[in-house]
Amino acid sequence: MTQSNPCIRCGKERIIAKSWKEQVGKSLLTYTTNICPDPACQKLIDRELKNRNDHLDAIHASSLLRKEENKRNRRKSQSTTQFP
Ligand SMILES: [Zn+2]
Repeated sequence: MTQSNPCIRCGKERIIAKSWKEQVGKSLLTYTTNICPDPACQKLIDRELKNRNDHLDAIHASSLLRKEENKRNRRKSQSTTQFP
């Protein structure tokens, strides 16, 4: 069985750029880095990936901030809750 790994942008079959083995626990795992055969396309993918990572970092940071705010708000509303 051959593994199909088409490029997400152009659909060309991706090629192995790098392959290395790593001992993880008791098993030897083979890692491969696949890239698009079209360098221009791969460059765009790299850029998109970086943008997405930056975006995720931003989301992560803002969600942490929100969590902190929620904590503060909850504490505030707890102290001002009035029972009828
Ligand atoms: Zn491509």
